[in-house]
Formats: sequence, C-alpha cells, structure tokens
Amino acid sequence: MKCFLIRDLLPFYAEGQVSKETKTVIEQHFKECNHCRELYESITDYSSELKESAELIEAWEPKSDDREFWRKYYSSLYMKNIGLFFAVLFFIIEMVRFVKSFK
Ligand SMILES: [Zn+2]
Repeated sequence: MKCFLIRDLLPFYAEGQVSKETKTVIEQHFKECNHCRELYESITDYSSELKESAELIEAWEPKSDDREFWRKYYSSLYMKNIGLFFAVLFFIIEMVRFVKSFK
C-alpha cells in the first residue's frame, strides 16, 4: 500500500475505527516503512492522554459493543472539545480587539 494512503488512514487507525483487514494492512506497512510508523507514533503521543482515558472506560466496560460505543462517544467528545477550544480562542481574540479599539 502507498504511504499517502496509510497516512490518510492513520488517524482512524489510532482511534481504532478501521476494519480488521485495514488494521492488518497498516501494521504490515509499519514493518516495511519507518516514516509511517514514526508518524503514527507522533499521533499516539499527541493523543496518549485521550487514549489513557479511553482505556479506563474500556476497563470499566468488558462488553465489546459498549466499548465501541464509548470509544465513539469519547472521540466525538474530543472533537467537540477542539471546537470549544477554538471558540474560546476566537472569543479572546475578539475581546482583545474590542478593548484595544477604546485606546
Ligand atoms: Zn509508508
């Protein structure tokens, strides 16, 4: 498989949202390609905190269906938090601009 295809799939792979077949293909590619493996490691470093929490949730719920639900729930929560972060950042920038306009 080509590197650019693997790289497109890495975020989903890191979230565990790929099929067994895709997972096998990606893991096979890691054995042959250091660049993609390092890229994957940098992704997992970035989201290691998220993963730890997700693993805690998985430890609470042994049923695989529930685990899948919590994983999806948690990743959607994560995306919402990113949205919230940018909303707050935008708000702060606007506030600074607003305050500066009085000087
Ligand atoms: Zn590669």
